[in-house]
Amino acid sequence: MTAAIIDGKAFAATVREKVAAQVATLKADHGVTPGLAVVLVGEDPASEVYVRNKGKQTVEVGMNSYEHKMDADTTEEALLAVIDKLNNDPAVHGILVQLPLPDHLNEDLVIGAIAPEKDADGFHISNVGLLGTSQKAMVPCTPLGCLMMLRDHHGSLSGLNAVVVGRSNIVGKPMANLLLRDSCTVTIAHSRTKDIEAVCRQADIVVTAVGRPQMVTGDWIKPGAIVIDVGINRIPAPEKGEGKMRLVGDVDFASAAEVAGAITPVPGGVGPMTIACLLANTLTACCRANGLAEPEGLTA
Ligand code: NDP
Repeated sequence: MTAAIIDGKAFAATVREKVAAQVATLKADHGVTPGLAVVLVGEDPASEVYVRNKGKQTVEVGMNSYEHKMDADTTEEALLAVIDKLNNDPAVHGILVQLPLPDHLNEDLVIGAIAPEKDADGFHISNVGLLGTSQKAMVPCTPLGCLMMLRDHHGSLSGLNAVVVGRSNIVGKPMANLLLRDSCTVTIAHSRTKDIEAVCRQADIVVTAVGRPQMVTGDWIKPGAIVIDVGINRIPAPEKGEGKMRLVGDVDFASAAEVAGAITPVPGGVGPMTIACLLANTLTACCRANGLAEPEGLTA
């Protein structure tokens, strides 16, 4: 293996430390404690675990955590009423509605009801527009985490060729916008891209957000490129026992690591950065709400 491993777990810990230090300063100097409210509708076990982790990490960095659990058959009206209350609560600086929502609830409508300045996930259409026009936005957490790792590893990204594989609203498109803002030359590849291997081979930076296990192999990678693997896929792991599964990314780690200059593993790469960036976004929202300077090293 030639590639350096970009350790997302360790880097996320440093991001949380930075957040905690700036939260402590906020409290001491301004008497303000950032607050993050998470709304969970229904009992999806994966979402419950994720929400529990978010709450735990929020408290660990010194912020206030507010959890709103609602029944799976909650009406849109009831959910919108909770969001309205949080929008108007000065102790709440960030609001996150855990997705996916049950089918009877309109996600666009619900996300659109969050006050844009409290939109900790950066999914509100106003924040999408602000990011797309290089203005001060709330930035989606996963792409923000990828950007932080890239900057930390490489410094300035200006002039680099970047290929983002995947064009979803939550990862691919905001990732491409962030890289463009950092002056990369950006290509977005997707399921209709012709000769996608050759497109990726041009890239100094490859970010994959596809959801297809180990699709990107070493022969897609330019020697020395930085590979950021957002994908989280479960595949059978017979070596662990019958019926066991393991997590892999969109990148075939073994072959890509032979060619790349640096690579994120799965698990332990992008994944841990997502909650760390949620905390960073909540701190950013709190600073903005109080007319204070943006937190250092924690924004796009
Ligand atoms: P989506 O399903 O919304 O988007 C997948 C994208 O991949 C689409 O744009 C699709 O193209 C493209 N795609 C699908 N098949 C191919 C192919 N064969 N070749 C090229 N492109 C292809 O996924 P998300 O963006 O929500 O998530 C992507 C992955 O990232 C998933 O594994 C998810 O679990 C993971 N993820 C991880 C997070 C983390 O915290 N680490 C957070 C969010 C997501 P088209 O538009 O043409 O259909």
